[in-house]
Parts: sequence; C-alpha cells; structure tokens
Amino acid sequence: SNAQLNNAEQPNVITPAKIHWQMDDTGNKVPVSGEFGDVYFSNADGLAESRHVFLAHNQLPERLANLVEKQCFTIAELGFGTGLNLLATWQLWRQLRDIYPQLATARLHFITTEKYPIPLVDLTQILALWGQRAPELAEFIEPLLTAYPPLIAGCHRLNFFEDNLTVDIWLGDAAESLAKLANNAASFHAPYVDAWFLDGFAPSCNSTLWTDSIFAQMQRLSRPMTTAATYSCAGIVKRGLQNCGFQIKKVKGFGRKNEMLTAIMLDTINLDANNSKDITFYNNASTAAPATDNNSESVKLNDNLPAHTIIIGAGVSGLLMAWSLANRGIQITLLDKSAPLAGASGNPRALLAPKMTPIHHVDEHLHTIGYLYSSRLYRLLNAKAEQESGASILEPTGALDLLIKANIGTEQIADYPDDMATTLSCEQAQNASGLKTQDLSENLYLPQSGLVNPQALKDTILTHPLIHFQQLDVTSASETEESVCIEGNNQDKQIISISADNVVICAAFESHELDKRIFDCRKIRGQLSWFTPTVAQLTSLPKIPLKYSGYCALFTAQTDDETLNNVIVGAPYLLLGASFIRNDTDTDIREEEHQISRDKLVTAIPEMDSVIPTNLSLWQGRAGIRTQTPDYHPIVGQLDQSKRMWVMSAMGAKGYAIAPICAEGLTDMMLGSFAPLSMAMLARLSPNRTRLQTPLT
Ligand code: SAM
Repeated sequence: SNAQLNNAEQPNVITPAKIHWQMDDTGNKVPVSGEFGDVYFSNADGLAESRHVFLAHNQLPERLANLVEKQCFTIAELGFGTGLNLLATWQLWRQLRDIYPQLATARLHFITTEKYPIPLVDLTQILALWGQRAPELAEFIEPLLTAYPPLIAGCHRLNFFEDNLTVDIWLGDAAESLAKLANNAASFHAPYVDAWFLDGFAPSCNSTLWTDSIFAQMQRLSRPMTTAATYSCAGIVKRGLQNCGFQIKKVKGFGRKNEMLTAIMLDTINLDANNSKDITFYNNASTAAPATDNNSESVKLNDNLPAHTIIIGAGVSGLLMAWSLANRGIQITLLDKSAPLAGASGNPRALLAPKMTPIHHVDEHLHTIGYLYSSRLYRLLNAKAEQESGASILEPTGALDLLIKANIGTEQIADYPDDMATTLSCEQAQNASGLKTQDLSENLYLPQSGLVNPQALKDTILTHPLIHFQQLDVTSASETEESVCIEGNNQDKQIISISADNVVICAAFESHELDKRIFDCRKIRGQLSWFTPTVAQLTSLPKIPLKYSGYCALFTAQTDDETLNNVIVGAPYLLLGASFIRNDTDTDIREEEHQISRDKLVTAIPEMDSVIPTNLSLWQGRAGIRTQTPDYHPIVGQLDQSKRMWVMSAMGAKGYAIAPICAEGLTDMMLGSFAPLSMAMLARLSPNRTRLQTPLT
C-alpha cells in the first residue's frame, strides 16, 4: 500500500503511528510515538497512573456503581493510543458488574478518538507487555485485538455484548471527529458525555488536542456535572476548560508528579438563577459519590425510557434492529406477515463485500462503514452460532473483484490498508481464484469479505431472550402521547392489536403502505440462481467469490439451509446473482433470469462458458423485491411529527452490509446515546430528507 507515501495532503488518509521502543530506568520497554517523540504511558507504572488520573479522578468507581437499570454512562477520550485507559476502564466495569446486580442492564459507552492509530502488529506487541505486567488485563486484550479495526478514517464501533460495553473508535483528527457527534434530542433525550479523559501528549508537543475547537466541542457535548480529568496542568488546559464552562481543581498527581487537573461542568442554569451557588466537587475516589438523587446521572433515570418496542418486518433490517435494541435491554415484539427472512433478505447466501470509494470519502461512506461493522459483528456472532447450531454466519472466504463495474481503479485501491483491500498480481489472483486463462491483472482483493448465511444469522438473533417473533399481517400502526398501537391479522384471520412504547417499521417496499410519511420507494425484482455442479465442473469453478457485473460464489450446504430445495447437506452449490428488474413485484422463478446471470458470468470470464451448464431447467432460484430510494441511501430515522414511530428501510441489495450499522445508529437515536454515524450521515438517511419529499396530493 502506498498510503504512507501520499497521505500528506489527502484528507481522510490515515497515517499509522510509528512506534519506537525505549528502555526505562528499570529496564522495562516503553513505546514512544515517532510522531510526537513522547511516551504513550508513564515509565513508572502506566496502568496505575491511568487508574489514578482518569478513573479515580472522574469518580468512575462510584459513579458506575451508582448507575441504575438500563442507564448508559458515556466516556469520551482524546487519544486512544495503546488502549490502556480503555482496558483499565473495562476491567473496572466488569468488576463492578460482578458486584452490583442492577448493572446487568446498565451500559458503558466508551467513545475515543485517534489520529495516528497504532498498527495492529505494534499494538499486539505493546499489549502483550501489559498482559504480562498486569495479568488482570489479559482477558480484555484478546477481544480488543480481535475487534481492532483496519486503519480507515471514520467511526468503528466495537460491541462487547457480554459486558454491555460499546467502544466507538473515531479515527481522524479529534476536533473533527467530535464535531461529527450528533447530540440533538430525538424522542428520549439528547446524548451527552459523562466523563472526559483528556489524554493527548503534552500540550507542548501535541497542541492539536488542546485547542479552542476541542474545548468548544467539549462544551457542546457536556452537561452540568460532566467531569473531566487530565494529567496536564498546563495553563492552556486550565484556561481552555474554564472558558468552556468547567470548574477546575488541581489535585495531587500520580507518583512523583505534584499535580493534575480535575474539572466539572458548571450548572449554568442554576448559576444564572443563583450566582453564588457553589459547585461542590465530587469527593476524591475513596469516598462515596454524590447520592444518585439530585445529580446529573439522575437525569437519566427517566421513566420515558422505552421498555417494549414493536418491529414490523423480519427481514435483515427488522432482525438487526431487534438485535441492537434487545442488547440494550429493550423487549422486542418482532412481527412479519409470513416468516423471518421470507422476503428479499432470505437468499441462501449473501456476499458481504465492500463497495469501494476513493479514500478521501471513506469516513462518510455508509457502505464502507457498514461493511466494516457487519464483518466484525458476524465474526463475533460466529462463535455463538457454531455453538448453537453448528452453522456459521460468515464464512471468511475473501473475494476477488474483477473491477468490471467498480467505481475505483487499482491506484485508488493502493490508498487502502492491505488488510481491507489490495490488488493481487495476476498470478496470485489466478491461484486464489483457480481461473487459468483470464487476465486478472486489474483486480481488487478483499481479504475480509465472506459469505453470509442469513438463516444462521436469523437463528442466532432469535435466540435472544428479549426477542419474541410473532406472525402477524399488520394493517395499521398509530401512536398516542403514551404509546403506539398496531393492528393486524394473524394466521387464523383474527384481528390482533398490540401496543408498545414505540414501533420501528422495517417493511421494505411495503413500509409506505403502513405509513404514508415513508417514501414510496422503487421496487426492484432480483433473482438469485444456483445449481449443484458435477465433480468435473467443480474443479474448474472459481474457488473464491468473484464480483464482476454480477457475482458468483461456491458454497457448501449446511444443515439449516431451508432455502435450498431438496438440500443435500455438505454438497457444493454455485450461486449466481442477480437479475435486476425494475417495477416488477412478482417473485416467480424465471429461466430467462437464470440466463441473465449466466451471461454476466461468461461475459466477464469467458473460460466459464464451457464449465457452466447450459440446461437451466435444472437450476434453482429465489426472487425477492428490493427497495430503493432515488439517492440510493436507506431510510433510517424518526417519522416526521412523530414521537414514537421510526423507520429503517430501503436497503436496496445491501442489507447485510449496512443494516447492522443503521440499526445501531437508530437504536442510539431512540435511546439517547451517541450514534456511530456522523450528524451529516444521519441527516442523509433521514426519512424527512428533501430528496424524499413528495408533494402532498
Ligand atoms: N490514552 C492512550 C492510552 O491509553 O494508551 C494514550 C494516549 S497518547 C498519550 C496520545 C494520543 O493522542 C496518541 O495516540 C496520539 O496519536 C493521539 N493524538 C495526537 N493528536 C491527535 C489529534 N489531533 N486527534 C486525535 N488523536 C491525536
């Protein structure tokens, strides 16, 4: 990759940190930033310092212990570095959750920023040292390294479901990243930061983390009683914090250091009313935190927090929406007029591959952000699925794009880190794919791509104890001040009504029928085709999924492959996709569309003409209706003039790549936490965006 050569002027090209190693007085190795020449953590005892400065002086032990059910506590960090602060916080959080039963449903959201992320190989080495020095951190290091994102600008959400911990790593300049956090109120309350970790290198060498624009963002994202802590007592830090509404206090620093700073956001409303009101600091870490009544955290003890959500439509959008909400402790009634995955999302396999964009757009490119999140989520769920059913959700095949319909050339691919996207030599590409005569020198290789098994994903999601599926053909959805009510017909044609705190409509092209405020999207029929190759054919078929103007992929049938007729478990199938027929909502299987998919393949790879059978009557297929907006973005957000009605729809043919991140974003909007999508992106996805406004007739 030439990322490091040409990134100087290109926005959004991430410069990885260059790590040097130094020996401290005691012979311990410490990592030093090549960019700033400063150490990532103190030579003496970095972990103890982190606990002293950031955890104790934000009163985390007490404040976290005092959270109530379903409450979310948000930490924002400037400078992720080696992740040591995160690991220390995570360990504290798990300890507290083991002690306090009410924390079982409480949640910790750790938002962090990093402009020069440490490459995975270096991070692995650094954290291995911590694993030895502080064995209590060891069990957190491995999951962090497994989830560590490729070094791509933008927000990377890492969910650690078992710990109710969400980590958002925003790669890029901290001031710019903070400016992207949306804190407007939706139905519940506007999100805000509870505690700041100001952990840039010293202001003398790392001025960009201590600027007015950083402090202005801190002010925007804080609330009265929000706290901040930093090891630095530099004048610029003290003034910056004071100017943005924090009251500061010098306290004893760690070890031999005399001082450090803690700060608390003043209650400006109370100050206006009563100028003399004294803001008392939280006491130091060893004493109890302020009582939970009458402090900032109590603002979140809001009875309005939804307890029960109805989701209409159990395709990929509805399923992932159910998963995100259920993991926040919300009880879900998931409805579908037939069965989960009965619509366009229910193909035997879906190819998870990014739609590439030139790198300077990448942080605002929904497909890339979504793809990275999806592949992380599916890999995480794999272990669960394999345990439960033996099936895997994502088969990590990698994929080769022949760049026939790509919007990117090999030069632009070189801007990406190789672990996300790269170009193989013609020979390597031939070896990887097994294609013999094709010129494959122009290619895009996607190491993280794979085949999603929708049924396995569905089965895993539906095992969540808070998700309840019910067959219901919903005919109406309406809301009052206090609740939503939906009505529909069950299998026995009885009329059923269900009420809940809110509803999310995930009914694809039928969403508009349920609520006219939802744009009436284009309907596009797509048919996927497959057949069982003979042993002779099998040896000549591409060994990894290929993308061209269509795509093809070999896969092996698993036990729960209900969508394959007369399935033979363990047998190979070649999947070919897909047709694309506008304004056609029939779902019959058509031989002429098998032919279209065959033609696309042999046009792209002529040597396949003699391999792929021509008697298409033996092929199987499945047709579904995709839903698409004029600007190709999905519809995600709250309905206009509504408090309790939400929509997530119009995924086009990209549901498996973008639904998981959209579901996280919508869940955050519904529950008042920070979304992993920028403010601009949320506006682009809004059901009320200008492009989707149709004149009322
Ligand atoms: N908290 C880290 C840990 O636990 O290992 C240590 C952070 S280190 C002292 C400071 C970090 O800030 C470095 O990783 C550096 O690359 C990052 N940084 C410097 N300038 C930045 C900027 N403008 N935006 C975001 N991160 C920045």
